[in-house]
Amino acid sequence: MEDCIFCKIINREIPSDTVYEDENILAFRDINPQAPIHIVVIPKKHMTSVLEADKETIGTIFEAINKIAKQEKIDEKGFRVITNCGENAGQTVKHLHFHILAGSKLNEKIC
Ligand code: 5GP
Ligand code: ZN
Repeated sequence: MEDCIFCKIINREIPSDTVYEDENILAFRDINPQAPIHIVVIPKKHMTSVLEADKETIGTIFEAINKIAKQEKIDEKGFRVITNCGENAGQTVKHLHFHILAGSKLNEKIC
């Protein structure tokens, strides 16, 4: 989608530090990490948020998250998965994405 920063990353118009890619999914390191490991996982098909997501897309994303957790060796110590939806959640990029946060004991405060 035009003017979508994550679509530009998918199309390689904007560089990113890719950690995982398959036919449907791209995952890359967040430019402004909130934890020692901070990865953003997105579907290659543009959709605004979980409100537009179909269950196949959600399933595919979580399969990728599972693989990435093992690849990054954060599966044993643990990690957090977050998706922001809309204004009150502070969603800044209007392309569905899931944050993987890991690498240290995460702050318990989530709101
Ligand atoms: P949101 O706040 O919408 O849930 O998360 C958007 C995330 O995308 C933020 O954590 C932000 O740092 C990240 N981000 C925004 N633009 C870029 C970019 O051009 N490259 C990368 N790697 N991350 C980005
Ligand atoms: Zn997009």
